[in-house]
Amino acid sequence: MARFSDEFLAELRMRCDIEQFISPYVQLKRRGKNLVGLCPFHNEKTPSFTVYPESQSYYCFGCGAGGEVINFIRRAENLDYVEAVSFLCDKCGMVMPTDGYDNSIAEKRRRMYEINKEAARFFNSYLFSEEGKVGLDYFKSRGYKKGTLIRFGMGYAPDKWDGLLRYMRQKGYSYEELYEANLANKSTKDNKTRYYDSFRNRAMVPIIDVRGNVVAFGGRVLDDSKPKYINTSDTLVYKKSLGVFGLNFAKNSKERKLIIVEGYMDAISLHQAGFDNAIACLGTALTGEMAHLLARYTDEVILAYDADEAGQKATDRAIGILNSIGMKLKVVKLTGGKDPDEILKNYGPERFRSLIEGAANDIEFELLQARNGLDLQSGDGKIKYLEKVASILAKTRNSIAQDVYSSKIAEELQVNKQSIIARIEQLRRKERYTREKQQYKKIQQDSMSRNSKLAITNNTNIKVLNAEEMLIASILRSPEFYDRIKVDVSQEDFTSEDNKRIFSAITEKIKDHRSLELTFFTQDLTQEQMNALVKIDKKHEFPISIKGCLDCIAVIKQEQERRKTRVPLTDMSDEEFRNLFKKNQ
Ligand code: ZN
Repeated sequence: MARFSDEFLAELRMRCDIEQFISPYVQLKRRGKNLVGLCPFHNEKTPSFTVYPESQSYYCFGCGAGGEVINFIRRAENLDYVEAVSFLCDKCGMVMPTDGYDNSIAEKRRRMYEINKEAARFFNSYLFSEEGKVGLDYFKSRGYKKGTLIRFGMGYAPDKWDGLLRYMRQKGYSYEELYEANLANKSTKDNKTRYYDSFRNRAMVPIIDVRGNVVAFGGRVLDDSKPKYINTSDTLVYKKSLGVFGLNFAKNSKERKLIIVEGYMDAISLHQAGFDNAIACLGTALTGEMAHLLARYTDEVILAYDADEAGQKATDRAIGILNSIGMKLKVVKLTGGKDPDEILKNYGPERFRSLIEGAANDIEFELLQARNGLDLQSGDGKIKYLEKVASILAKTRNSIAQDVYSSKIAEELQVNKQSIIARIEQLRRKERYTREKQQYKKIQQDSMSRNSKLAITNNTNIKVLNAEEMLIASILRSPEFYDRIKVDVSQEDFTSEDNKRIFSAITEKIKDHRSLELTFFTQDLTQEQMNALVKIDKKHEFPISIKGCLDCIAVIKQEQERRKTRVPLTDMSDEEFRNLFKKNQ
């Protein structure tokens, strides 16, 4: 595989400042010469994601993700290496050298976008054809106007086994490509594979990502048969856990807040009624990944899930996730209909607008929810409610909110406010204690499983790994040491496979007199090895002398000797085997 030249990568690195590229994904705060924020790759409440402008690198102390700008974009945008480089080139106005690179995945992805777009065109034009009248009638019966159908590229999948397949085959796409895009299914009988349309006799809605690519489809039945919805499952261009509908339009809305509804049909109805900031989360519920995606476009959302029990559960879950990333949120209590679509139909957009304006913040919503099924006139009901109130307020870190709501409820229930506050404090202490205990337990478990895993797989120990890491860290910082140690140590001496690979990548560069900037390693190391390299770099920040290097080598060599001399159990004679136990007694 061809490689990018160091000159090219150096220029890319210079033009793509890491801070600038990370800040759309993470809200960064300055801390000394570095920046910190909440990690976009794992859920956390206190920031452990650190950006180092000086070395143009990042590292998360929570999940261990680390690297530089190319591998950050790979992770954040879910791209492969060449795609990430191309993404950065586009942003900074550089031309990517294309000859000889392995861009097979990028090419496959490009074809899949094309296939989806072509399929969307097919479904859409079929909708407006004579045979598609049944689909058009369905959309009309649900109140969708022609302009909306066109704007959202909605369509109809014919009631045939090969309606789309035939069309796409004519356009030059293979069965296998259509299968991989989830537009075709296959079955094998008598050693013969047959392909057929995935979507048949369904009202089709294309799912379009923020960049305007058709990435997936949702298909709804026209009657009451099951399954009601069929959606594209994960493909090369679509990840369900990241599937958000309508963000391509909503991100351009004048409204700063996003309205989140349960289904894409609701989102479309809202757009038609003038709420161009409505989106829907695909799949079953809002995920942490989606929340991070939304946080790039807004810092406030309005949840308007269905009024049924499932919708309430989804709301509770979403509140937890959105809270954990510091998103401001409000919750609409739907009245006059089971979902936004029904409310718009029954009462018109003004009703929905007033519901949004009257939306409770998340605390008010939870406090209201907590009343369900309790008789607040009875002593027992009061106690149960106050207990719930205390646990809701204990969760918020906003002390003013806590004060306001405990006063309000104390007055309403005619109890002493101080007793509510005292209970809140008690719950907080308990929560802190449990959390600390869990953290302690986790650290212990991690180090135990790390130790035992290493002991079993590598016959090695932490001391050796530390020596390996320190040696790597020191030659990374003082490449001139390499000349003096190269006779004493080689990559073969390392016990960890990752360290072996990292050490050889570094020494190859030193031999060629090339720069040791992180960016130059992105072509040689996997994402995991990049994590490890950055971790080593951050962990061993103090310079080591040449003497220190030699000490590390001694530890590594000692371990190697130990492993060499240890005879595997199976090679022992019976006599030796017995002796082994005698020695141990
Ligand atoms: Zn992390």
